[in-house]
Amino acid sequence: MCGRKKVSKSKTSSRRTSKKSSVLRDILVESMSEDHVAIVEKLSEPKYDEDVAAELKLKSTIVRTLLNDLHMNSLVGYERSKNKKTGWYTYLWNRRDGKIKEYIQGYLKGRLEELNKQLDSERQGMNFNCSCSRVPFETAVEQNFKCSECNEKMKEYDNSDIIDKIVNEISNVNSLLAQTENDTFFERGKK
Ligand SMILES: [Zn+2]
Repeated sequence: MCGRKKVSKSKTSSRRTSKKSSVLRDILVESMSEDHVAIVEKLSEPKYDEDVAAELKLKSTIVRTLLNDLHMNSLVGYERSKNKKTGWYTYLWNRRDGKIKEYIQGYLKGRLEELNKQLDSERQGMNFNCSCSRVPFETAVEQNFKCSECNEKMKEYDNSDIIDKIVNEISNVNSLLAQTENDTFFERGKK
């Protein structure tokens, strides 16, 4: 039982506010990318992938890859039709407005779960450290208070600042989650 842990940096709190102010938009950028969001924005009405590509001045192959990512998360759907002359399929893509909010809220809830786990483990006492890691008391005892990797002595460490940071981050994510409720950025006709 080794409970080593590296301090992870918070993504959500370093989020920059975008020009178009929307929590939903910001978090979709954070969880996917600015390019994915650009495509979602272009799909305020159903479009063919080559039209989206032309509007965004991107290669069709790139747009298709981005659309597939979005499709894997159920954020877009498509209607496929076969050109009888050429035998090729064309795809008319549409945005699944309701799913976007659901996806983003799911993303934030996942983040909360992760933070709560971190908080639990910090509260259980992740409070011995050397220069390469932080471990709970039991692990420090098992290793005779000497790190097997850097050979340094493990010293007792006050993790109350880390606990405060996690608590703040949890309240930050909770407030973002509440804000998503009234955010209608990706709903048709409300822009
Ligand atoms: Zn070490």
